[in-house]
Amino acid sequence: MPASQSYSVTIAGGGLGGLTAALALRQKGIRVTVLEQAPQLGEVGAGIQTAPNASRVLISLGLRAQLTAIHTEPQDQVRRRWRDGSVIAMTALGDRCKREYNAPYWHYHRADLHKVLLDACLDADGPGPVVEIHTDSKVVDVDRADPTRPVAVTATGNRHESDVLIGADGIKSSIRDILELPDTLRFSGEMAYRALIPGDKIAADPATRWLVDRFQSTIWYGPDRHLVHYMIRGGQYLNVVAIVPCSEEVARNWTAPATADELVEAFPGWDDRVASMLSKAEGDASAWAMHYRLRDPVWTDGHVALLGDACHAMLPYQAQGASQAMEDAAVLAEELGSVPVDDIRGALTRYVTRRAKHAGMVQDASLENMRFYHLPDGPEQQARDEKLKDFRGESDLSYDWLWRGTPLRDPDLEAFSYQFPK
Ligand SMILES: Cc1cc2nc3c(=O)[nH]c(=O)nc-3n(C[C@H](O)[C@H](O)[C@H](O)COP(=O)(O)OP(=O)(O)OC[C@H]3O[C@@H](n4cnc5c(N)ncnc54)[C@H](O)[C@@H]3O)c2cc1C
Repeated sequence: MPASQSYSVTIAGGGLGGLTAALALRQKGIRVTVLEQAPQLGEVGAGIQTAPNASRVLISLGLRAQLTAIHTEPQDQVRRRWRDGSVIAMTALGDRCKREYNAPYWHYHRADLHKVLLDACLDADGPGPVVEIHTDSKVVDVDRADPTRPVAVTATGNRHESDVLIGADGIKSSIRDILELPDTLRFSGEMAYRALIPGDKIAADPATRWLVDRFQSTIWYGPDRHLVHYMIRGGQYLNVVAIVPCSEEVARNWTAPATADELVEAFPGWDDRVASMLSKAEGDASAWAMHYRLRDPVWTDGHVALLGDACHAMLPYQAQGASQAMEDAAVLAEELGSVPVDDIRGALTRYVTRRAKHAGMVQDASLENMRFYHLPDGPEQQARDEKLKDFRGESDLSYDWLWRGTPLRDPDLEAFSYQFPK
């Protein structure tokens, strides 16, 4: 029996980071309780990409079959110029990722990915103790009278005592505030429009049909703004993320509903295909103010530690926020899963040592991409586009470094990994 089987972990936050951590810890034999503030677990209606560094973690947790059922696989990453849509650069994804990184680059609907993780946490036949999940459980305080047994206190007055408390409670983390860690939250001045556009509308219009003929992950570069899109659920939806300067209303409220007209108007003078695509958005398009956290090496205090956006929220300009949280989860489980209760403090310190610098570099590169992506037309933009032609990474980070992820030492990893023929 692993030493860790005798102890328990409470996780505040049931997002993608919290649930990946819960599953990874469960599989190490640790008893896990998740406290989620919302009345129901779930995710926003939008897409998400996992590059090989995150897909590898998810597959190593035994989710290969479930992910195969819900994923969409892009064949290339394509970078286009705003005015005429001309291709600046193209990188092969698809089989190349499996061959070179032993893990795929996949797209999903967030709700599908969240459900796969939730089901695995609750699966009575899965390895390790079933995860206990409480909704309507906002953590508002942490009682550390006994520093080795932190107690998460919810708004309704319930007390959850365990050996470790993990704050996976997102960019506005309460656990972070309760620990009185530095205020690292910053507003970027930009906002993201998010929309899911029905694939059948895209397929029916000759101006947008090309989007379903070959699945790709596409980024359009323009002055002050950029546009990302990819298909999810095998072509059922085109997921769109459109980054533009933030309106006062969205800056004030963090989020607001948006219309197709607003999306189209946000890209004046862009290639006609952009308007053809965005005009098909319907229903629940939305705008989100873009915040991030400054790099911060302090993720733990005694038996309490942070994970995911709570410690390294980054701009989504590399599509890596949740993926880095998944790497956190894998490393946290390796460290906590191999120690007796009297070495928890050491395990959490080693977790932070292995992860904080790595995630910090991704945070910095995502921030640098705000400038790099949004250059006005001119010599600097031309030099950027020239550099992109032989593109092997984002800002100063190579894809090779990013997609190999934080080195893991789990001997099960190879057995679970993609096993794509070399
Ligand atoms: C437009 C956009 C596109 C993105 N695209 C990608 C992508 O393609 N790939 C990628 O890897 N990342 C992407 N990201 C980043 C990714 O969405 C986040 O990094 C990720 O969701 C963070 O996960 P988390 O679990 O740390 O936090 P969250 O998802 O925020 O989850 C936190 C959870 O904690 C709960 N909570 C909050 N406070 C409390 C409390 N006090 N008590 C209990 N529960 C609490 C919340 O309700 C929530 O369920 C994108 C982000 C944006 C904005």
